[in-house]
Parts: sequence; structure tokens; C-alpha cells
Amino acid sequence: MTAIDLAIIGFGKIARDQHRAALDASPVFNLAAVVDPVARPEGLTAYPEIGALLRQSPRVQAVSLCTPPQVRFAVARQALLAGKHVLLEKPPGTTVSEVMTLQRIARDQGRVLFAAWHSQFAPGIPGAKAWLADKRITRITVTWREDVRRWHPGQDWIFAPGGTGVFDPGINAYSILTHILPVALYTTAATLEFPENRDTPIAAQLTMLTEEGAPVDLDFDFRETGPQTWDMQIDTDRGRLDLSQGGATVLIEGRAVASESSLSGEYDRIYARFAQLIQRGTSEVDLAPFRHVADAMMLGRRIQTEAFAW
Ligand code: NAP
Repeated sequence: MTAIDLAIIGFGKIARDQHRAALDASPVFNLAAVVDPVARPEGLTAYPEIGALLRQSPRVQAVSLCTPPQVRFAVARQALLAGKHVLLEKPPGTTVSEVMTLQRIARDQGRVLFAAWHSQFAPGIPGAKAWLADKRITRITVTWREDVRRWHPGQDWIFAPGGTGVFDPGINAYSILTHILPVALYTTAATLEFPENRDTPIAAQLTMLTEEGAPVDLDFDFRETGPQTWDMQIDTDRGRLDLSQGGATVLIEGRAVASESSLSGEYDRIYARFAQLIQRGTSEVDLAPFRHVADAMMLGRRIQTEAFAW
């Protein structure tokens, strides 16, 4: 496959922490430019907005959208209409309809749209999915508790409309569940805690059922200053699966099927997948995790909690 010139749009935390290194290591992609209102990373051509990239770097064939979700639709639409393949960081937008519109535009343009769910590329995920394939789920418990000040310092967009609040990490749990489970899930109740000065929830307690009626309890919290927890326990008719560290570690009946010290490698696999999709000319947009956030917001009982300040 010949090298594909790619630009990162939105050069913030995740672009710096993960995308740049994965692209530097990629045998397929060449990081040709970035687009960001402020960031001017050394050694890279930088543009302040996508229009300048489209005018001045015509060789760029693909873009990765690492902006906050609130601006993603407009930028992705512009890129697709200019004939670029588009990778969307999670969550893929601010509404389900936006993402479905992008799917249609990508189809009309004959370009690839890839909604990347990084947690689906965690080391333990293939083993977990394979083991669960022929099991009957009897109970699931999910605990996703982290400190927003530590992981998203000063990112006000998370608490602005469309930022999803605690669902920003919580959607990673949904993306794992919907990917590895052999059955569908639906939300039956939710309590959403909104800080009195913010527009998105800082915590959520959710009750779901599998389509076969097994209970699924999820506890998402952005106020965890103690040990950071991204765990799930899945009980089945033939044993139990424990996933921890966001999918880096998976135990089946207490035996490790994957045990990595970190989630590094997720983004290498994301870019390998993006390359494969481009080669095949196929889009991949899994809407299930995002739908569950929308359902929780529709169904959830809202309670007000104390104001949040960084
Ligand atoms: P961030 O640090 O706030 O970075 C976003 C960057 O996008 C900022 O530099 C921002 O510039 C820029 N930007 C805003 N509007 C833009 C536009 N129209 N065109 C180009 N650039 C624009 O946020 P982040 O943590 O990297 O998160 C970005 C996305 O990745 C989110 O959807 C998040 O859920 C996802 N993600 C984050 C993590 C993580 O650990 N942080 C992990 C996985 C996925 P200004 O700040 O100057 O506006």
C-alpha cells in the first residue's frame, strides 16, 4: 500500500498523547499536517482551520478528528465533501443524527468514515469477545470511576452541551460491552447527577437489561480521587469474566487471558484498522455506544449536585 498523507485536526491532549506516536509508527500513514486554532507542534505544518488545510495541502487524503465533539460534524462534513477519508475520535459527534448524516455523505462521496472506539482495541478485548460468544449472560456490573481533574484538566467542553460529561469516559465502557457481548442491551433506568453550574452529568447510575433479561448495573463517576477504576464483571452460565484497567487486563475464572500493564497499542491497532478500511473502501460506524448515551439522557432522572470548579 502506498503511503497515505494524513492530517490531525484538533491537536490537544489525545492527539499529543496517542495519535502522533501511533502515526509516527504507522507503516501506512504519514502525518503531513495538523489543524488547530493554537497548537503549532514542532516539525509539523500547522493550519489554524480546516479550510486552509484543504486549500494548501491537497495531497492529504485522510484526516483524524481529535477536536472536542461539539465542532466535529461541521469539520467532518467539510473534509468528506473535499474527498478526504475521515476518522472520528470518540464520541463521534453530539447527536446520533449528525453521525448518520456523515455516514450518508461518506457513502455519496465514496469515502471512508471510521468512528473509532479506542477501548474496542484494548489488548483484552478479542479474548473476552471470543470467550463470551457461546455463553448466556446472567449478570453484569460495571464500575467506571475516574478523576476528571486529573484526566481532563480544564476541558470545559466536557461540561458544555454536547460534551456528555461523565459519559465521555462512560462511553468507553458501553463500547466494550456492545462489542464483546453476544446479546443486545437496553437502558431501563438512570439517575444523572448534574453540577448546578454545568450542563452535563458528573455522575450517572444506570440500570440496563440484556435482551434475555439479565441485570446490568453501571456506576459512572467523574469525582473519584482514590484508585481509578475502569472495571467490569460479567457472570455467565459457565463462569465469570473480569475486565479491568479499561480492557488491558481480562481474567476468565481468575486466569489471565490478557494482562498488559497499559493500554498502549490501542491506537496502533486503530490506525491499522483505518488503513484496512481505506484499502477496502468500506466505512465502519458502530452507533451502539453512542445510542446508549442518548437513551440514558432521554430516560434519566436528573438530580442537581454541588457546583463543579477545576
Ligand atoms: P483537548 O485537549 O481539548 O483537545 C482538543 C483540541 O481541538 C484543542 O487543541 C482545541 O483547540 C482543538 N480544536 C477545537 N476546535 C477546533 C477546530 N474547529 N478545528 C481544529 N481544532 C480545534 O481534548 P482531548 O482530550 O484531546 O479530546 C479530544 C477528543 O478525543 C474528545 O472527543 C475526547 O472524548 C477524545 N478522547 C480523549 C482522550 C483523553 O484521554 N483526553 C482519550 C480518548 C479520546 P482549543 O483548545 O484552542 O479550542
